[in-house]
Amino acid sequence: AKIHQRGTAVSFAPEHEERLRDIAMIEQALRRADLAAEFDLHYQPIIDTVDHRIEAYEALARWNSPVIGRVSPAEFILVAEQTGLIRDLTPILFGKALAALRTWPEDVRLSFNLSAQDIASPASVARLAELVVASGLDPGRIVFEVTETGLMRDLVEAHCSLATLKELGIGIALDDFGTGYSSFSYVHRLPLDRLKIDRSFVISLGDDATSLSIIRSIVDMSRNLGLHCVVEGVETFDQMLLLRSAGCRSMQGYLFSKPMPEEAVSGFGLVVPEH
Ligand code: C2E
Ligand code: CA
Ligand code: CA
Ligand code: CA
Repeated sequence: AKIHQRGTAVSFAPEHEERLRDIAMIEQALRRADLAAEFDLHYQPIIDTVDHRIEAYEALARWNSPVIGRVSPAEFILVAEQTGLIRDLTPILFGKALAALRTWPEDVRLSFNLSAQDIASPASVARLAELVVASGLDPGRIVFEVTETGLMRDLVEAHCSLATLKELGIGIALDDFGTGYSSFSYVHRLPLDRLKIDRSFVISLGDDATSLSIIRSIVDMSRNLGLHCVVEGVETFDQMLLLRSAGCRSMQGYLFSKPMPEEAVSGFGLVVPEH
C-alpha cells in the first residue's frame, strides 16, 4: 500500500485512504517487531458436546505492538503473508503452542493454524516437523488447520507437505469449510482428518432450513469419508441444539468460551449449557 499513489491520477475515497495507511502502518510495525516478544497465543476450546469434554484448544495469534497497539490477526496475518514474515512468525508461535500443549492433559489436542506459505514451502514444513520431533510430544496430539485457499495455490506441493506431516502422525483439518469454491472436490483428494464447518453456516441457521440441511449433508459426507467434523462459531444455545439435531457433536464458539490467554487454560472449567 503506497500513499504516494495519491500523487498520481488515481484518487481514493477517504475511507480507502485510511485503510491503505493502516496496512502501511501495520507493515512497518511488523517489519520492526520483535516477533518472539510481541506475539503470543490465545486458546479456544473445541468441545465434545455429547461427552461434555474438551477435545482440543485452537491456538489463535495475538499481537500487542508497542508502536501501534493491538492489531487483529485477520489483519496482521495477511500482512505477514504479504511480506513473507509469516515464515519467521509461524515457527515462533508454534514453539510457544507446543510449550503450552506440554502442560495440558494427555487427552487434549492442540489445533494450530498454518498459512498458505507455510504449506507451500518444504523448508517451512520441515522446520515444523523438526519442532514436533524435538518436543518429544505425541504428534497425534497435534492438528494443523489449513484453508482451501491456502491449498489451492499449489495443490501438488500442498499435498506433499500434508502427506509429510501426516506421516509423522499429525492430524490435518480443513478450516473454514464451505467458504471456498470447490470444497467437496478437494476433500477426498487430500490427506485430511478433520473438517471445520465455517461460522457462516451457523449464522444463517435462523434464516431458513437450507443451512441446516447443508450442515447435515456435510456431516453425513464427513462420516462417510471418516473425517471428524467440528462446527465453528457457535454462539447460542439454540444454535447448539439445531446443530446437534443435524448430527454435529464437536463445536467451538463463544457459547462455550472465547479464546483465552494461556494462563487461563488450566483454570478453565467447561460448562456445557443445558437449557
Ligand atoms: P480462524 O482460524 O477461522 O479462527 C476462528 C476465528 O473466529 C477466531 O478469530 C476466533 O476468535 C473467532 N471465533 C471463535 N468463536 C467465535 C464465535 O462464537 N463467534 C465469533 N463471532 N467469532 C468466533 P481471530 O482470533 O480473530 O482469528 C482470525 C483469523 O486469523 C483466524 O480465523 C485465522 O485464519 C487467522 N489466524 C489466527 N491465528 C493464526 C495463526 O497463528 N496462524 C495463522 N496462519 N493464522 C492465524
Ligand atoms: Ca482455524
Ligand atoms: Ca475457521
Ligand atoms: Ca478464517
